[in-house]
Amino acid sequence: MSIEHWQTILYPYRICLFLENGDFFMYNCIICRYHEIATKGNNRNMFEKCLVDNIRHALRPVSGECKVRRIRGRVWIEPGNGGNFDETLLAQIVERLPDVFGLESFSPAVLLPVDMDVIRQTAVEMAPQAFERCGKEHPAFRVRARRSNKRFPLTSKDIEIDLVTAVADKLGEGAFVIDLKNADITLGCEIRDEFSALYFDIYRCAGGLPVGSNPRVLTLLSGGIDSPVAAWQIMKRGSPTDFITFHSSPYTPPETVDKVRGLVSTLNKFQRKGRLFIVNLAEFQKAVRDNCSERMRTVLYRRAMLRIAEAVALKEECKALVTGEALGQVASQTVANMDTINRAVDMLVLRPLVGADKLEAIAVAERIGTMKQSSVQVPDSCTVFAPSNPATSVPVDLALKEEAKIPDYAGILEKIIADIEIDA
Ligand code: ATP
Ligand code: MG
Repeated sequence: MSIEHWQTILYPYRICLFLENGDFFMYNCIICRYHEIATKGNNRNMFEKCLVDNIRHALRPVSGECKVRRIRGRVWIEPGNGGNFDETLLAQIVERLPDVFGLESFSPAVLLPVDMDVIRQTAVEMAPQAFERCGKEHPAFRVRARRSNKRFPLTSKDIEIDLVTAVADKLGEGAFVIDLKNADITLGCEIRDEFSALYFDIYRCAGGLPVGSNPRVLTLLSGGIDSPVAAWQIMKRGSPTDFITFHSSPYTPPETVDKVRGLVSTLNKFQRKGRLFIVNLAEFQKAVRDNCSERMRTVLYRRAMLRIAEAVALKEECKALVTGEALGQVASQTVANMDTINRAVDMLVLRPLVGADKLEAIAVAERIGTMKQSSVQVPDSCTVFAPSNPATSVPVDLALKEEAKIPDYAGILEKIIADIEIDA
């Protein structure tokens, strides 16, 4: 998992440049780039449509004020009135776009005609302010041109040389050094069939696939650090998720569920609202306490959680379960116990953090805004009647034997499922 890569803002957040005469140089479009979707074959259209829908949804508070269009390999956002973005609108869009999975990066830009004289003139007008805000005396500068319009008379290389030369003429000898690899300032230029665009800033997004391009899943969400991160990872791969949480009222306080509600609301920023299924496991836990070996309690709880989650998923048409389990993290996450827990259900269980260290999970939790909420200490359902010395290897036949000791195991789960509350 490349955490560093995510949302690196390469340049300081600025929404407009100044012209020398003091007027605002306002942007009139945002170029949105995607990567993985572009590698898709026949179903690429479905992914692109889903991405555009999700961008519109993310921008819904301001959607009346802008147009979102898909034009060959890019999504373009423009002000609805055809003019320039005003500062407030641009700031709102810049704040929301990084949460849209499938996007690789975006750049506020100036849309221009396909005319080298106009492009050059505009680049020269934009450059002084970009250099000024960089703040370095002899910054490293480069131009990156992309030309999808093959009828344009200049090659990408020619365009780059033309623009560097024009900027050098404007700023004077020695204003910058050219460095194609480690530039402090990059001027981007795109030449398309219908228009061209110039930009200085690249905002990185999370990448992945648009939410909705894969089937809906159900995430087992505790109040811990890992499961919110797991839900985020799965949304990032295109699956919208509902959530299911287990509490043990009256042995856990209402705050246990309130904390999870808070996490759900943070995670729903990345998708169209997912529902929360709230399950009281206390009756089952009492039955385990009264009938089963103490050291096996946690494994038995987890098997019941998966069974209940599977029943909900089947009813709600979720195609897989998701957990925040990481191999070896605690006694219930040894290979032996994960195997025994897994065998409680037939449904696919996705464990995106299985190979992650705690520090990696924490780094993502910080980025996505769940860390603070997860750090609030409230009692967890799993700690109710929890053994002080849990078994690290419970073979599946032993788990089955213990479960058989519980009078009416199936009836208890049925009753619990019938009593599930739903936050829609
Ligand atoms: P932590 O960050 O403390 O490890 P966690 O959520 O990963 O929190 P674990 O005890 O490691 O908690 O549990 C492993 C997984 O089991 C969780 O990631 C979650 O998917 C599921 N789980 C555990 N407890 C609950 C619960 N009370 N409700 C829903 N899912 C739970
Ligand atoms: Mg964990």
